[in-house]
Amino acid sequence: MMITKFCFKKYFVICFLMIFFVSSAQKKFTIVLDAGHGGHDVGATRNYDFGTPQEKDITLNIVLKLGKMLEENKNFRVIYTRKTDMYPSLTERTNLANRSKADLFMSIHVNSSASKSATARGTETFVQGPNQNRENLEVAKKENDVIYLDAKDREVFASYDPSSPESLIALKIQQGKYLERSLHIGSFIEENFEKGGRFSRGVKQANLHILRMSAMPSVLIETGFVNNYEDAVFLSSDEGQRKTATQIYNAVLKYASKNLVAAAEEPRKKQEKKEMPLKNDFRILLMSTPIKYNYGDPAFKGLNYILPIKENGLYKYYYAVTNLASVRDANLKTARDAGFRNATSVGFVPFQTLRSGSYTLEVYVGKDRLPSDSYILKNLKDVKREKANGVFYYTYGSEKTLEAIVKLQKSLEEKGIKNSVIQKLNK
Ligand SMILES: [Zn+2]
Repeated sequence: MMITKFCFKKYFVICFLMIFFVSSAQKKFTIVLDAGHGGHDVGATRNYDFGTPQEKDITLNIVLKLGKMLEENKNFRVIYTRKTDMYPSLTERTNLANRSKADLFMSIHVNSSASKSATARGTETFVQGPNQNRENLEVAKKENDVIYLDAKDREVFASYDPSSPESLIALKIQQGKYLERSLHIGSFIEENFEKGGRFSRGVKQANLHILRMSAMPSVLIETGFVNNYEDAVFLSSDEGQRKTATQIYNAVLKYASKNLVAAAEEPRKKQEKKEMPLKNDFRILLMSTPIKYNYGDPAFKGLNYILPIKENGLYKYYYAVTNLASVRDANLKTARDAGFRNATSVGFVPFQTLRSGSYTLEVYVGKDRLPSDSYILKNLKDVKREKANGVFYYTYGSEKTLEAIVKLQKSLEEKGIKNSVIQKLNK
Protein backbone atom coordinates (compact mmCIF):
# COMPACT_ATOMS: atom_id res chain seq x y z
CA MET A 1 0.00 0.00 0.00
CA MET A 2 2.74 2.45 1.01
CA ILE A 3 4.77 1.70 -2.03
CA THR A 4 1.79 2.08 -4.30
CA LYS A 5 0.97 5.54 -3.00
CA PHE A 6 4.59 6.57 -3.24
CA CYS A 7 4.75 5.30 -6.77
CA PHE A 8 1.56 6.87 -7.84
CA LYS A 9 2.61 10.38 -6.89
CA LYS A 10 5.97 11.24 -8.33
CA TYR A 11 8.98 9.09 -8.18
CA PHE A 12 7.72 6.71 -10.75
CA VAL A 13 11.09 5.84 -12.29
CA ILE A 14 12.87 5.33 -8.98
CA CYS A 15 10.00 3.22 -7.82
CA PHE A 16 10.06 1.13 -10.95
CA LEU A 17 13.75 0.46 -10.44
CA MET A 18 13.14 -0.48 -6.80
CA ILE A 19 10.50 -3.00 -7.73
CA PHE A 20 12.72 -4.33 -10.47
CA PHE A 21 15.65 -4.93 -8.12
CA VAL A 22 13.50 -6.42 -5.39
CA SER A 23 11.92 -8.86 -7.79
CA SER A 24 15.13 -9.82 -9.55
CA ALA A 25 16.85 -10.44 -6.21
CA GLN A 26 14.12 -12.93 -5.34
CA LYS A 27 14.31 -14.95 -8.47
CA LYS A 28 11.82 -17.75 -8.29
CA PHE A 29 12.89 -21.33 -8.76
CA THR A 30 11.16 -22.36 -11.97
CA ILE A 31 9.96 -25.91 -12.43
CA VAL A 32 8.46 -27.41 -15.55
CA LEU A 33 6.01 -30.20 -14.76
CA ASP A 34 5.35 -32.58 -17.61
CA ALA A 35 2.46 -35.01 -17.28
CA GLY A 36 3.49 -37.84 -19.59
CA HIS A 37 1.39 -38.77 -22.62
CA GLY A 38 -2.18 -37.37 -22.96
CA GLY A 39 -4.95 -37.09 -25.55
CA HIS A 40 -4.76 -39.86 -28.13
CA ASP A 41 -1.66 -41.23 -26.42
CA VAL A 42 -3.00 -42.99 -23.31
CA GLY A 43 0.37 -44.47 -22.30
CA ALA A 44 0.50 -47.64 -20.21
CA THR A 45 -2.85 -49.13 -19.23
CA ARG A 46 -4.40 -52.32 -17.86
CA ASN A 47 -7.87 -53.79 -17.21
CA TYR A 48 -8.78 -54.62 -13.61
CA ASP A 49 -11.87 -55.49 -11.62
CA PHE A 50 -11.85 -51.95 -10.23
CA GLY A 51 -11.42 -50.19 -13.57
CA THR A 52 -8.94 -49.40 -16.32
CA PRO A 53 -6.24 -47.07 -15.03
CA GLN A 54 -4.52 -45.13 -17.80
CA GLU A 55 -1.08 -43.62 -17.54
CA LYS A 56 -2.14 -40.29 -19.06
CA ASP A 57 -4.76 -39.72 -16.31
CA ILE A 58 -2.55 -40.79 -13.42
CA THR A 59 0.33 -38.57 -14.55
CA LEU A 60 -1.97 -35.57 -14.97
CA ASN A 61 -3.53 -36.03 -11.52
CA ILE A 62 -0.13 -36.29 -9.84
CA VAL A 63 1.18 -33.26 -11.73
CA LEU A 64 -1.83 -31.12 -10.82
CA LYS A 65 -1.52 -32.05 -7.15
CA LEU A 66 2.23 -31.47 -7.14
CA GLY A 67 1.83 -28.19 -9.03
CA LYS A 68 -0.68 -26.91 -6.48
CA MET A 69 1.71 -27.65 -3.60
CA LEU A 70 4.55 -25.85 -5.39
CA GLU A 71 2.39 -22.86 -6.31
CA GLU A 72 1.43 -22.39 -2.68
CA ASN A 73 5.12 -21.88 -1.92
CA LYS A 74 6.14 -18.41 -3.10
CA ASN A 75 9.67 -19.54 -3.92
CA PHE A 76 8.44 -21.53 -6.89
CA ARG A 77 7.13 -20.76 -10.32
CA VAL A 78 5.43 -23.68 -12.04
CA ILE A 79 5.04 -24.22 -15.76
CA TYR A 80 2.87 -27.06 -17.01
CA THR A 81 3.31 -28.76 -20.36
CA ARG A 82 -0.36 -29.69 -20.09
CA LYS A 83 -3.14 -29.17 -17.55
CA THR A 84 -5.82 -31.09 -19.40
CA ASP A 85 -6.22 -34.28 -21.39
CA MET A 86 -4.32 -33.11 -24.45
CA TYR A 87 -1.16 -34.20 -26.23
CA PRO A 88 1.69 -31.71 -26.59
CA SER A 89 4.38 -33.10 -28.84
CA LEU A 90 7.76 -33.93 -27.42
CA THR A 91 9.25 -30.86 -29.08
CA GLU A 92 6.52 -28.64 -27.72
CA ARG A 93 7.19 -29.93 -24.22
CA THR A 94 10.94 -29.45 -24.31
CA ASN A 95 10.79 -26.17 -26.24
CA LEU A 96 8.51 -24.79 -23.56
CA ALA A 97 10.94 -25.87 -20.87
CA ASN A 98 13.96 -24.47 -22.70
CA ARG A 99 12.27 -21.16 -23.52
CA SER A 100 11.21 -20.65 -19.93
CA LYS A 101 14.81 -21.12 -18.77
CA ALA A 102 13.53 -23.36 -16.04
CA ASP A 103 15.72 -24.63 -13.21
CA LEU A 104 14.27 -28.11 -13.21
CA PHE A 105 12.29 -30.32 -15.57
CA MET A 106 10.26 -33.24 -14.25
CA SER A 107 8.38 -35.63 -16.48
CA ILE A 108 5.95 -37.92 -14.64
CA HIS A 109 5.13 -41.39 -15.98
CA VAL A 110 3.73 -44.79 -15.11
CA ASN A 111 5.67 -47.92 -15.94
CA SER A 112 4.63 -51.28 -17.31
CA SER A 113 6.76 -54.35 -17.71
CA ALA A 114 6.83 -56.81 -20.56
CA SER A 115 6.51 -59.83 -18.30
CA LYS A 116 3.00 -61.23 -17.90
CA SER A 117 3.65 -62.33 -14.32
CA ALA A 118 3.57 -58.67 -13.25
CA THR A 119 6.24 -59.17 -10.60
CA ALA A 120 7.91 -55.87 -11.47
CA ARG A 121 6.79 -53.15 -9.10
CA GLY A 122 7.88 -49.90 -7.53
CA THR A 123 9.30 -46.58 -8.59
CA GLU A 124 12.35 -45.57 -10.55
CA THR A 125 13.72 -42.23 -11.66
CA PHE A 126 15.67 -41.76 -14.85
CA VAL A 127 18.33 -39.23 -15.68
CA GLN A 128 19.86 -38.81 -19.10
CA GLY A 129 22.73 -41.13 -19.87
CA PRO A 130 23.82 -43.90 -22.15
CA ASN A 131 21.69 -47.03 -22.17
CA GLN A 132 23.21 -49.26 -19.57
CA ASN A 133 21.28 -52.46 -19.90
CA ARG A 134 18.46 -54.15 -21.74
CA GLU A 135 15.85 -53.27 -19.16
CA ASN A 136 16.57 -49.55 -19.38
CA LEU A 137 16.53 -49.88 -23.13
CA GLU A 138 12.95 -51.15 -22.85
CA VAL A 139 11.90 -48.06 -20.91
CA ALA A 140 13.69 -45.88 -23.43
CA LYS A 141 11.89 -47.63 -26.26
CA LYS A 142 8.48 -47.26 -24.67
CA GLU A 143 8.85 -43.60 -23.80
CA ASN A 144 10.64 -42.72 -27.02
CA ASP A 145 8.12 -44.54 -29.17
CA VAL A 146 5.85 -41.59 -28.76
CA ILE A 147 7.93 -39.54 -31.11
CA TYR A 148 7.84 -42.11 -33.88
CA LEU A 149 4.11 -41.52 -33.97
CA ASP A 150 4.38 -37.82 -33.80
CA ALA A 151 3.97 -35.90 -37.03
CA LYS A 152 4.61 -32.58 -35.30
CA ASP A 153 8.08 -33.62 -34.21
CA ARG A 154 8.80 -34.96 -37.65
CA GLU A 155 7.92 -31.64 -39.13
CA VAL A 156 10.09 -29.68 -36.76
CA PHE A 157 13.08 -31.75 -37.67
CA ALA A 158 12.29 -32.20 -41.34
CA SER A 159 11.76 -28.53 -42.06
CA TYR A 160 14.07 -26.78 -39.73
CA ASP A 161 13.15 -23.17 -39.15
CA PRO A 162 16.38 -21.15 -39.00
CA SER A 163 14.69 -18.46 -36.89
CA SER A 164 13.96 -20.92 -34.11
CA PRO A 165 16.97 -21.54 -31.89
CA GLU A 166 14.90 -24.06 -29.94
CA SER A 167 15.07 -26.58 -32.71
CA LEU A 168 18.81 -26.65 -32.27
CA ILE A 169 18.87 -26.97 -28.53
CA ALA A 170 18.03 -30.63 -28.76
CA LEU A 171 21.23 -31.39 -30.54
CA LYS A 172 23.40 -28.70 -29.13
CA ILE A 173 23.10 -28.93 -25.42
CA GLN A 174 25.23 -31.52 -23.79
CA GLN A 175 23.15 -32.97 -21.02
CA GLY A 176 26.39 -33.88 -19.28
CA LYS A 177 26.71 -30.64 -17.40
CA TYR A 178 23.31 -31.16 -15.81
CA LEU A 179 23.89 -34.80 -14.98
CA GLU A 180 25.16 -34.28 -11.47
CA ARG A 181 22.24 -32.11 -10.44
CA SER A 182 19.79 -34.46 -12.16
CA LEU A 183 21.26 -37.30 -10.12
CA HIS A 184 20.78 -35.25 -6.94
CA ILE A 185 17.10 -34.57 -7.44
CA GLY A 186 16.62 -38.15 -8.66
CA SER A 187 18.11 -39.61 -5.50
CA PHE A 188 16.04 -37.29 -3.27
CA ILE A 189 12.88 -38.42 -5.05
CA GLU A 190 13.64 -42.12 -4.76
CA GLU A 191 14.73 -41.66 -1.13
CA ASN A 192 11.36 -40.09 -0.32
CA PHE A 193 9.41 -42.79 -2.17
CA GLU A 194 11.21 -45.39 -0.09
CA LYS A 195 10.65 -43.49 3.17
CA GLY A 196 6.97 -43.33 2.26
CA GLY A 197 6.80 -47.11 2.03
CA ARG A 198 7.14 -47.59 -1.71
CA PHE A 199 9.53 -50.06 -3.25
CA SER A 200 12.29 -48.01 -4.90
CA ARG A 201 14.17 -49.43 -7.85
CA GLY A 202 16.56 -46.50 -7.64
CA VAL A 203 17.95 -43.85 -9.94
CA LYS A 204 18.92 -45.03 -13.40
CA GLN A 205 20.35 -43.66 -16.59
CA ALA A 206 18.66 -44.06 -19.95
CA ASN A 207 18.80 -42.37 -23.29
CA LEU A 208 15.43 -40.63 -23.27
CA HIS A 209 14.72 -37.93 -25.83
CA ILE A 210 12.63 -35.87 -23.45
CA LEU A 211 15.61 -35.64 -21.08
CA ARG A 212 18.22 -35.23 -23.77
CA MET A 213 16.37 -32.31 -25.31
CA SER A 214 15.92 -30.36 -22.09
CA ALA A 215 18.62 -27.79 -21.37
CA MET A 216 18.41 -28.02 -17.57
CA PRO A 217 18.58 -30.65 -14.84
CA SER A 218 15.87 -33.13 -15.81
CA VAL A 219 14.33 -36.31 -14.46
CA LEU A 220 11.73 -38.75 -15.71
CA ILE A 221 9.88 -40.35 -12.81
CA GLU A 222 8.21 -43.73 -13.24
CA THR A 223 5.77 -43.69 -10.32
CA GLY A 224 4.93 -47.39 -10.39
CA PHE A 225 3.84 -50.29 -12.62
CA VAL A 226 0.34 -50.25 -14.05
CA ASN A 227 0.54 -54.02 -14.60
CA ASN A 228 1.30 -54.64 -10.91
CA TYR A 229 -2.00 -54.87 -9.04
CA GLU A 230 -0.88 -53.11 -5.86
CA ASP A 231 0.88 -50.31 -7.72
CA ALA A 232 -2.16 -49.88 -9.96
CA VAL A 233 -4.56 -49.64 -7.01
CA PHE A 234 -2.26 -47.16 -5.25
CA LEU A 235 -1.70 -44.93 -8.30
CA SER A 236 -5.40 -44.94 -9.22
CA SER A 237 -6.44 -43.68 -5.80
CA ASP A 238 -6.64 -40.04 -4.82
CA GLU A 239 -4.61 -40.83 -1.71
CA GLY A 240 -1.89 -42.63 -3.63
CA GLN A 241 -1.58 -39.76 -6.09
CA ARG A 242 -1.45 -37.23 -3.24
CA LYS A 243 1.24 -39.22 -1.41
CA THR A 244 3.30 -39.52 -4.57
CA ALA A 245 2.98 -35.77 -5.23
CA THR A 246 3.96 -34.98 -1.63
CA GLN A 247 7.02 -37.21 -1.79
CA ILE A 248 8.17 -35.52 -4.99
CA TYR A 249 7.38 -32.10 -3.50
CA ASN A 250 9.58 -32.77 -0.47
CA ALA A 251 12.41 -33.88 -2.72
CA VAL A 252 12.09 -30.63 -4.70
CA LEU A 253 12.22 -28.61 -1.46
CA LYS A 254 15.44 -30.30 -0.45
CA TYR A 255 16.93 -29.92 -3.92
CA ALA A 256 15.88 -26.28 -4.31
CA SER A 257 17.21 -25.25 -0.90
CA LYS A 258 20.61 -26.44 -2.05
CA ASN A 259 20.37 -24.87 -5.47
CA LEU A 260 18.32 -21.73 -4.86
CA VAL A 261 21.22 -19.77 -3.40
CA ALA A 262 23.56 -20.89 -6.13
CA ALA A 263 20.99 -20.06 -8.80
CA ALA A 264 20.40 -16.56 -7.44
CA GLU A 265 24.07 -15.75 -7.19
CA GLU A 266 25.23 -17.22 -10.43
CA PRO A 267 24.03 -14.94 -13.21
CA ARG A 268 22.89 -17.13 -16.04
CA LYS A 269 26.02 -17.69 -18.04
CA LYS A 270 25.74 -16.47 -21.57
CA GLN A 271 26.05 -19.39 -23.94
CA GLU A 272 29.83 -19.35 -24.24
CA LYS A 273 30.63 -17.76 -27.58
CA LYS A 274 27.74 -17.60 -29.97
CA GLU A 275 28.34 -19.71 -33.04
CA MET A 276 27.31 -17.99 -36.24
CA PRO A 277 24.88 -19.99 -38.36
CA LEU A 278 26.00 -21.12 -41.81
CA LYS A 279 24.24 -19.98 -44.96
CA ASN A 280 23.08 -23.48 -45.80
CA ASP A 281 21.18 -26.12 -43.94
CA PHE A 282 22.99 -29.42 -43.63
CA ARG A 283 21.49 -32.89 -43.62
CA ILE A 284 23.38 -36.13 -43.25
CA LEU A 285 22.93 -38.48 -46.21
CA LEU A 286 22.76 -41.98 -44.73
CA MET A 287 22.18 -44.04 -47.88
CA SER A 288 20.86 -44.06 -51.44
CA THR A 289 18.91 -47.16 -52.34
CA PRO A 290 16.05 -48.32 -54.58
CA ILE A 291 14.34 -49.70 -51.45
CA LYS A 292 11.59 -47.71 -49.80
CA TYR A 293 11.67 -47.85 -46.00
CA ASN A 294 8.90 -46.51 -43.83
CA TYR A 295 9.47 -44.26 -40.86
CA GLY A 296 10.90 -46.15 -37.89
CA ASP A 297 12.29 -49.00 -40.01
CA PRO A 298 15.19 -50.90 -38.38
CA ALA A 299 17.24 -50.01 -41.47
CA PHE A 300 17.67 -46.57 -39.87
CA LYS A 301 19.52 -48.20 -36.95
CA GLY A 302 17.56 -46.29 -34.37
CA LEU A 303 18.11 -42.84 -35.86
CA ASN A 304 15.10 -40.54 -35.91
CA TYR A 305 14.32 -37.41 -37.89
CA ILE A 306 14.79 -39.09 -41.25
CA LEU A 307 13.78 -37.27 -44.41
CA PRO A 308 13.62 -39.45 -47.53
CA ILE A 309 13.88 -37.74 -50.92
CA LYS A 310 13.50 -39.80 -54.09
CA GLU A 311 15.54 -38.79 -57.09
CA ASN A 312 16.25 -40.72 -60.31
CA GLY A 313 14.66 -43.88 -58.93
CA LEU A 314 16.76 -43.89 -55.74
CA TYR A 315 15.57 -43.09 -52.26
CA LYS A 316 18.02 -40.85 -50.45
CA TYR A 317 17.61 -40.95 -46.71
CA TYR A 318 18.72 -37.81 -44.89
CA TYR A 319 19.18 -37.58 -41.15
CA ALA A 320 18.60 -34.42 -39.04
CA VAL A 321 19.10 -30.85 -40.18
CA THR A 322 21.06 -27.89 -38.87
CA ASN A 323 22.76 -24.71 -39.93
CA LEU A 324 25.48 -24.84 -37.28
CA ALA A 325 28.82 -26.36 -38.21
CA SER A 326 29.36 -27.90 -34.78
CA VAL A 327 25.96 -29.61 -34.84
CA ARG A 328 26.48 -30.79 -38.41
CA ASP A 329 29.75 -32.43 -37.39
CA ALA A 330 28.11 -33.98 -34.34
CA ASN A 331 25.24 -35.31 -36.49
CA LEU A 332 27.71 -36.83 -38.92
CA LYS A 333 29.49 -38.54 -36.05
CA THR A 334 26.17 -39.83 -34.66
CA ALA A 335 25.32 -41.31 -38.06
CA ARG A 336 28.72 -42.95 -38.47
CA ASP A 337 28.63 -44.28 -34.91
CA ALA A 338 25.22 -45.78 -35.65
CA GLY A 339 26.83 -47.78 -38.47
CA PHE A 340 26.45 -45.58 -41.54
CA ARG A 341 30.17 -45.51 -42.32
CA ASN A 342 29.76 -43.73 -45.65
CA ALA A 343 27.47 -41.03 -44.33
CA THR A 344 28.23 -37.54 -45.66
CA SER A 345 26.82 -34.12 -44.96
CA VAL A 346 24.93 -32.40 -47.77
CA GLY A 347 24.19 -28.67 -47.98
CA PHE A 348 20.68 -27.40 -48.79
CA VAL A 349 20.07 -23.76 -49.69
CA PRO A 350 17.09 -22.72 -47.56
CA PHE A 351 13.94 -21.89 -49.56
CA GLN A 352 15.76 -22.47 -52.81
CA THR A 353 13.44 -22.39 -55.80
CA LEU A 354 14.16 -25.09 -58.37
CA ARG A 355 14.98 -23.53 -61.73
CA SER A 356 13.94 -26.62 -63.62
CA GLY A 357 11.96 -29.55 -62.34
CA SER A 358 9.82 -29.71 -59.22
CA TYR A 359 9.06 -31.61 -56.06
CA THR A 360 6.10 -33.93 -55.78
CA LEU A 361 4.88 -36.51 -53.27
CA GLU A 362 4.90 -40.20 -54.05
CA VAL A 363 1.79 -41.31 -52.21
CA TYR A 364 1.56 -44.93 -53.29
CA VAL A 365 3.67 -47.58 -55.01
CA GLY A 366 2.34 -51.04 -55.84
CA LYS A 367 1.86 -53.82 -58.36
CA ASP A 368 -1.89 -53.25 -58.36
CA ARG A 369 -3.83 -50.21 -59.40
CA LEU A 370 -5.47 -48.27 -56.59
CA PRO A 371 -9.23 -48.78 -56.69
CA SER A 372 -11.14 -45.56 -57.31
CA ASP A 373 -12.75 -45.80 -53.87
CA SER A 374 -9.36 -46.13 -52.10
CA TYR A 375 -8.68 -43.70 -49.27
CA ILE A 376 -5.97 -41.87 -51.20
CA LEU A 377 -7.98 -41.37 -54.38
CA LYS A 378 -11.09 -40.39 -52.48
CA ASN A 379 -9.26 -37.78 -50.42
CA LEU A 380 -6.86 -36.27 -52.96
CA LYS A 381 -7.71 -34.61 -56.25
CA ASP A 382 -5.45 -34.75 -59.28
CA VAL A 383 -3.36 -37.73 -58.26
CA LYS A 384 -1.04 -38.72 -61.09
CA ARG A 385 -0.46 -42.34 -62.03
CA GLU A 386 2.48 -43.79 -63.90
CA LYS A 387 3.45 -47.34 -64.71
CA ALA A 388 7.01 -48.54 -65.04
CA ASN A 389 8.26 -52.14 -65.13
CA GLY A 390 4.89 -53.43 -64.01
CA VAL A 391 4.72 -51.14 -60.99
CA PHE A 392 2.23 -48.33 -60.45
CA TYR A 393 3.49 -45.04 -59.05
CA TYR A 394 1.01 -42.48 -57.72
CA THR A 395 2.15 -38.92 -57.11
CA TYR A 396 0.46 -35.80 -55.83
CA GLY A 397 1.25 -32.10 -55.81
CA SER A 398 3.92 -29.94 -57.38
CA GLU A 399 6.09 -27.47 -55.53
CA LYS A 400 9.22 -25.51 -56.29
CA THR A 401 10.85 -25.54 -52.85
CA LEU A 402 11.69 -28.32 -50.43
CA GLU A 403 10.07 -26.39 -47.59
CA ALA A 404 6.78 -26.14 -49.51
CA ILE A 405 6.67 -29.86 -50.28
CA VAL A 406 7.45 -30.74 -46.65
CA LYS A 407 4.49 -28.58 -45.68
CA LEU A 408 2.26 -30.34 -48.21
CA GLN A 409 3.46 -33.69 -46.90
CA LYS A 410 2.43 -32.65 -43.43
CA SER A 411 -1.04 -31.70 -44.57
CA LEU A 412 -1.42 -35.18 -46.10
CA GLU A 413 -0.36 -36.76 -42.82
CA GLU A 414 -3.08 -34.81 -41.07
CA LYS A 415 -5.54 -36.35 -43.51
CA GLY A 416 -4.20 -39.78 -42.54
CA ILE A 417 -2.05 -40.34 -45.63
CA LYS A 418 1.24 -41.42 -44.11
CA ASN A 419 4.58 -42.52 -45.48
CA SER A 420 4.43 -40.43 -48.61
CA VAL A 421 7.87 -39.71 -50.01
CA ILE A 422 9.16 -36.44 -51.39
CA GLN A 423 10.28 -36.90 -54.95
CA LYS A 424 12.50 -34.55 -56.88
CA LEU A 425 11.62 -34.47 -60.56
CA ASN A 426 14.40 -33.13 -62.71
CA LYS A 427 12.17 -32.01 -65.56
ZN1 LIG B 1 5.18 -42.98 -20.06
